[in-house]
Amino acid sequence: MNLIDGKKISYEKRIEIEKRIEKIKQQTSKVPGLATILVGNNPASQVYIKSKIKACKDVGIKSFHHTLHENTSIENISALIKDLNNNQEVDGILLQLPLPNNQDAQDCINAINPLKDVDGLHPFNAGLLNLSKSWDEIIEKNILVSCTPLGVIHMLQMSNISITGKTAVVIGRSNLVGKPVSMLLLANNATIIMAHSKTNNLKNLCKNADIIVAAIGKPKFVNKDFIKDGAVVIDVGINRTPDGLCGDVDFDSVKDMNINITPVPGGVGPMTITMLLENTLKAFNNKINRN
Ligand code: NAP
Repeated sequence: MNLIDGKKISYEKRIEIEKRIEKIKQQTSKVPGLATILVGNNPASQVYIKSKIKACKDVGIKSFHHTLHENTSIENISALIKDLNNNQEVDGILLQLPLPNNQDAQDCINAINPLKDVDGLHPFNAGLLNLSKSWDEIIEKNILVSCTPLGVIHMLQMSNISITGKTAVVIGRSNLVGKPVSMLLLANNATIIMAHSKTNNLKNLCKNADIIVAAIGKPKFVNKDFIKDGAVVIDVGINRTPDGLCGDVDFDSVKDMNINITPVPGGVGPMTITMLLENTLKAFNNKINRN
């Protein structure tokens, strides 16, 4: 087994981002700004927000954090977002998901100016991703793509794992992970099977895949019976169990296989935050180029 070390790749990428921001600061006396919004007090969300704010500080991005009461209405969250849309110091707006009380976040996401949508979840950016014909086009047009899927592609690229011509099974079809990761793999010339809870013969489909992306949210769901020799396995899952944090892949069952795999923790998670920094810098640069 070969570990794809998300922590290491992430660290290298953050150093590069920090250098780019330092250069911008010297040239313009300005730095990118990221506004984060946390509604309620979900402990996992609090941890994620804290990590995001710290990561911003580490690379020189200015943070603007807002915590709202868990009973704040969608209208009030959207009103804050509209204020942030008009704030010239804010280049990116991140609404931490999920919202409390099972509230649908789409109306809030729709309120974000697409140019500040660093999570890539606004229909405008999701649409641009779907319309793009290649990875080069996504890069050249500076499209804001959802952070976790973007992190997956960067990890593969920085590990010198080629995607072109490969068969990839993505397990999960969420707007946050499954769909955009499938679109990005397609843009990188993979042949995609997007699987979900109604998929028949999932094990067999996976067994023939060169790349498996597990984004299910079920602890240790994917075991050695799903994976062929030589495959690449990206474990997006973050599951809190009584035994601690684990992914969607049964790591113990696959650890003696000849595969490349991302660990949990220390795989996709750190890359997600790094891509948030990258997207904030991208939104800042897009603003500078427009002016
Ligand atoms: P989600 O919205 O709940 O989607 C889960 C997907 O898995 C759905 O499409 C569902 O299919 C599919 N699924 C459920 N049971 C299945 C089964 N038995 N066989 C095949 N597919 C099945 O979750 P998400 O937001 O995409 O997140 C997925 C996981 O990634 C979670 O553990 C989450 O915590 C983690 N995550 C990690 C990061 C990170 O930074 N590492 C970021 C985001 C999310 P249906 O559509 O048919 O219901």
